[in-house]
Amino acid sequence: MMIDILPIRTQRSTTSRLAELDPKLEFGKVYSDHMFVVDFHNGEWQEAQILPFGDMVVSPANSALHYGQAIFEGMKAYHQADGGVALFRPSDNWARFNASAERMCMPHIPEELFMQGLLELLRLDTAWVPTATGSSLYIRPFMFATDGFIGVRPSESYRFMIFTSPVGLYYNKALRVRFEQKYVRSAEGGAGFAKNAGNYGAAMYPTKLAQAEGYNQLIWTDASEHQYVEESGTMNAVFVIDGRVVTPALSTSILDGITRRSVLQLARDMGLVVEERKVSSREIMEALAAGKLEEAFGVGTAATIAPIATIGYEGQDYHLPEVAPNAFSKRVGAALDAIRSGEGADVHNWMVRV
Ligand code: PMP
Repeated sequence: MMIDILPIRTQRSTTSRLAELDPKLEFGKVYSDHMFVVDFHNGEWQEAQILPFGDMVVSPANSALHYGQAIFEGMKAYHQADGGVALFRPSDNWARFNASAERMCMPHIPEELFMQGLLELLRLDTAWVPTATGSSLYIRPFMFATDGFIGVRPSESYRFMIFTSPVGLYYNKALRVRFEQKYVRSAEGGAGFAKNAGNYGAAMYPTKLAQAEGYNQLIWTDASEHQYVEESGTMNAVFVIDGRVVTPALSTSILDGITRRSVLQLARDMGLVVEERKVSSREIMEALAAGKLEEAFGVGTAATIAPIATIGYEGQDYHLPEVAPNAFSKRVGAALDAIRSGEGADVHNWMVRV
């Protein structure tokens, strides 16, 4: 759908908080000076605005707070080798946002509105894009219901917003994970493929239990048999078994990760065999015992690649072999870093200049 986008009404912040920024860039604590805001009323998107980042007023009967009609995205902008700024696959985030919106009975956001808001916000806060190697500007688009109506039905009004936060190099300490065979993140037919707030709230308790046992995160398994790998924490899971790149096939219970699809594309470009299929915990443990599990790692926007060092299974810990310098996860991580920083050829046209 094409819509006419009015000029975005911009109210600049009078003082920048940039000078207060801690160079350590701890994730999720400091937000850039501005935010993008657009409301949906009477079946239409209203005038879009860019405002100084700050608190806002909502009704206590706001239905997002009660029934969880709230969705989000996570994406990043990167400082480029030539001094500019570029986004990684932003249209993919837009498309997934609308898939989440559909599942949660929320309105679609037109691509022009999403992209124009994103680009204008980033142009205004360009100075917030960190330049150190491995750092980036994390971007959080989100939408929530705004009806002050306590009945259980889809809201009629919504707010879409974007804010950003500079993030430093993610320290890729190899993870200790365990198969989760009691709690589930999502069931087939549920909303696991969507980035709705409730999926994340419900995952916290089982994750907290695993962390109390000394693991960093869980490998979620399927809801009916607790056998098949779904995801690893808030990342997709990838294994290298006997030279083949193996990952769970997408379903309604798995988030269609943009890093996942990029890693699989680069694997195919490298001439590797990629298998998107069911992967059971037993297959992983048998491959490990037979010396055929070469690598296991999570893939996602936050860490890009998070190698797994230890897997807990039925009360025992099993250790993976040391990752070789020319391992697939290292090569694909380096290839993605090169594309994102503008130092490597972007053959798939994934980067969009701000
Ligand atoms: N799974 C879940 C549950 C997630 O929250 C994320 C982060 N968005 C991912 C996988 C990885 O997706 P992406 O590569 O698009 O960040």
